[in-house]
Amino acid sequence: IDAWETLTFDNRFTRHLPADPDETNQIRQVRGACYSRVVPKTVAAPRLIAHSREVAEQLGITPELLQSQQFADVMSGNAVHPAMDPFAMCYGGHQFGNWAGQLGDGRAINLGEVVDVHGRHQTLQLKGAGPTPYSRFADGLAVLRSSVREFLCSEAMHHLGVPTTRALSLVLTGDAVTRDMFYDGNPKQEPGAIVCRVAPSFVRLGSFQIFASHDDVDTLRQLADFTIRHDFPHLGKPSPEVYAEFFAEVCQRTAELMVHWMRVGFVHGVMNTDNLSILGLTIDYGPYGWLEDYDPGWTPNTTDAQGRRYRYGHQPQVAQWNLAQFAGSLLPLVDQDVDVLQKGLHLYVETFDDGWNSMMSAKLGLDKFRGEQDQRLFSELFDVLQLAETDMTLFYRRLADVPNDVDAESVCDLLHEAYYKPEEINADVRTATADWFARYQARLAAAGVSDEKRRERMNRINPLYVLRNYLAQLAIDRSEQGDHSGIAELLEVLRHPYDEQPGREAYAEKRPEWARHRAGCSMLSCSS
Ligand code: AMP
Ligand code: MG
Ligand code: MG
Repeated sequence: IDAWETLTFDNRFTRHLPADPDETNQIRQVRGACYSRVVPKTVAAPRLIAHSREVAEQLGITPELLQSQQFADVMSGNAVHPAMDPFAMCYGGHQFGNWAGQLGDGRAINLGEVVDVHGRHQTLQLKGAGPTPYSRFADGLAVLRSSVREFLCSEAMHHLGVPTTRALSLVLTGDAVTRDMFYDGNPKQEPGAIVCRVAPSFVRLGSFQIFASHDDVDTLRQLADFTIRHDFPHLGKPSPEVYAEFFAEVCQRTAELMVHWMRVGFVHGVMNTDNLSILGLTIDYGPYGWLEDYDPGWTPNTTDAQGRRYRYGHQPQVAQWNLAQFAGSLLPLVDQDVDVLQKGLHLYVETFDDGWNSMMSAKLGLDKFRGEQDQRLFSELFDVLQLAETDMTLFYRRLADVPNDVDAESVCDLLHEAYYKPEEINADVRTATADWFARYQARLAAAGVSDEKRRERMNRINPLYVLRNYLAQLAIDRSEQGDHSGIAELLEVLRHPYDEQPGREAYAEKRPEWARHRAGCSMLSCSS
């Protein structure tokens, strides 16, 4: 246990908030409590197969501890450090637009809080550590496939500069987990795994909704006061005004997050209110996907294939809808004053619009956003991007390389790497692209933006390396065969997503044809 002495534990959540008096893992409806104390399930043979060195350092975890069997034991739930106080959180949520009642941490177990090297509290949470009172009909476990995806994407998002929960470790449990893969009806045994997620708070919009839905204003207020005191301390002492400011800040952070997702081409896939963080972090990596071909209607989630509620282009509106539901749950704290919360929703729209305009300007390397004329340039670009299958990531990187003085007619040739089907680049596509490029050239020339400056600006905001769906799947395939080194290799590339990395060009290539229809590469089920 000595190796743990470099960590400081301080479990505020369980110390300050009301607990469920029942401390069994039995499935039940919980009332008047923010969490239930639980015991993680023991596993057969825990083995650490990947970790984030940055997160380990931030928490004060030494290389010795990382390499010890004790670490794998704790990060799989096989052992609980005496300073930890494991619990599952109670929350509800709107799933696909419908109120779903109590959800809660059905397969996540919070171990406790560590004070990091910056003095900030970080909750450690095991995903897939066994059943909790909130497991409903499921087993509380996670498979290797989805755990690799959560581990890699958490860290990739961080390195892209997108607010996110982090991933400390990925442990193979040594147990098999049964899953129905992709609706073929045949249950399959898959290796079990556990990711240790790390965040200052795992509180979600749905954490507030559950108490409002029970008319439990007392617990609702306790959670709001706790969250404001510890995660929004700058807002001061809770009062109806402060609750409204708290709501507005959540709106603002969520808007900023949506701008980031749109910028990098991330599609969450399950934007239910229980999957939106109170801190504006990306949370709950399930059937997410990265946009390859620029298609605002795309969603990776096969469960959502019909309605496509959570498609790429719809994410900002869905976040706003979710925030409106969250506002409803705060009404008892602001004397039912709808108007005072309406301000937060206005701030959402304003923050998103401003953020979107500056983000798009930066993606194109413009000097600054110059109003309506630039907005037209953006929307015409989105039209052009949909004329032929175009890789969004490569498009912006290659556009940065096109000199401003080239003949606009030749721009498609210079962008050829971004196109999936060269045969689609017919005369119409060439003309439309050239027309757009000529307007872009004029815009740059009028503002006197040099090629060098523009390229530098663009490459700072347009990533070259993203967690392409097929890259994650290749690492998973290897890992399932017992070779886990692909995970660390991919993470290494994703640590510097904006830099050209000589020798690693293969990781920046567009999705190969074999991956177009392969499960896990372009379509994901919720089965995880
Ligand atoms: P999600 O939309 O994937 O974040 O999950 C929605 C709800 O289902 C949450 O309450 C999860 O904790 C729960 N859940 C998902 N998978 C499992 C599982 N394998 N076992 C227990 N609960 C689960
Ligand atoms: Mg969730
Ligand atoms: Mg298209």
